[in-house]
Amino acid sequence: MNVLVTGGAGFIGSNFVRYMLEKYPHYHIINFDLLTYAGNLENLKEYENHKNYTFVKGNIQNKELVQYVVSKHDVNAIVNFAAESHVDRSIIDPGIFTKTNVLGTQVLLDVAKECHIQKYIQISTDEVYGSLEEVGLFTEETPLSPNSPYSASKASADLLVKAYHETFGLNINITRCSNNYGPFHFPEKLIPLMITNALENKKLPVYGDGKHIRDWLHVKDHCSAISLVLHNGKPGEVYNIGGSNEMENIEVVKEILSILKKPQNLIQYIEDRAGHDRRYAIDATKIRSELGWRPEYDFENGLIDTVNWYLENKDWWSHIKTGDYEKYYVSQYGAS
Ligand code: NAD
Repeated sequence: MNVLVTGGAGFIGSNFVRYMLEKYPHYHIINFDLLTYAGNLENLKEYENHKNYTFVKGNIQNKELVQYVVSKHDVNAIVNFAAESHVDRSIIDPGIFTKTNVLGTQVLLDVAKECHIQKYIQISTDEVYGSLEEVGLFTEETPLSPNSPYSASKASADLLVKAYHETFGLNINITRCSNNYGPFHFPEKLIPLMITNALENKKLPVYGDGKHIRDWLHVKDHCSAISLVLHNGKPGEVYNIGGSNEMENIEVVKEILSILKKPQNLIQYIEDRAGHDRRYAIDATKIRSELGWRPEYDFENGLIDTVNWYLENKDWWSHIKTGDYEKYYVSQYGAS
């Protein structure tokens, strides 16, 4: 199989490329990525010269280039991770989210249709379902009700993907996962931000009362789920993917401090994010029962592994946290 992985230099995409090259060494993986601030070829440095791995720098909105790459490498399947992915940035500049996440997806769908791609997978998010009350879980039938410009752009893309299945018979799947954590996670997101700030003895900014609930999924468990969908997903189906690890943000932050043996007074409560969804939680029964998916990581050990990864890979994250990142950080949280 020749698989085009878009956004393969980002957090989940690079973990997926690694997973596929290790598990299916005979597949050809083509990583197509624009290398925005979130894309980093260091994530896949050891595969630079791998015979079944090709990197192409490009924008998913560039139809000619996507078409050229798909034809040149005889691509059978597309897995689309490419996106603007940070909710906070979508509040500052929604336009780029619409361009990349919606229009970019439409370009990929057009190419998939015109080049007779056998399988197209859209990596979506549980955030398209909106916010949950204290009880209940998101199923694949939960109506879409996004609240942030980010989740609205992802929901819009999902609707386009579904429409290309209904209208043109494209063999698609949509996966909607909960919050991922693990190695190579860009340090603007909750877990790597808190780990790296704690390691630098900086304040740990926590939105509102910190009681927002997220359902944590180890990125490697996410990758195994996507691989199952790629190989066995039924045409047109949506699959929710979640680790059943619901935690309040403040509990996660306290746990990180305790693993690192850092003082709890590093925590700094800040004004809540606008439109901040209170709770996400996934019902993953469908992918478990139809495709036999089982997550391997429990959150406690997965978090310890992740903290250790950041301890051992200071070079990877310390230079990311300078320059534009620093400017963004100060505009978001003030000087640390
Ligand atoms: P990320 O921000 O780490 O990576 C995104 C990648 O896409 C980067 O490598 C970037 O360079 C690339 N990219 C951005 N715009 C592009 C464009 N126009 N053309 C080509 N490449 C482009 O994101 P992530 O956390 O790895 O998320 C991957 C996907 O999973 C996204 O679609 C996101 O919506 C979804 N998702 C992520 C999470 C999570 O917890 N991280 C949860 C649910 C869903």
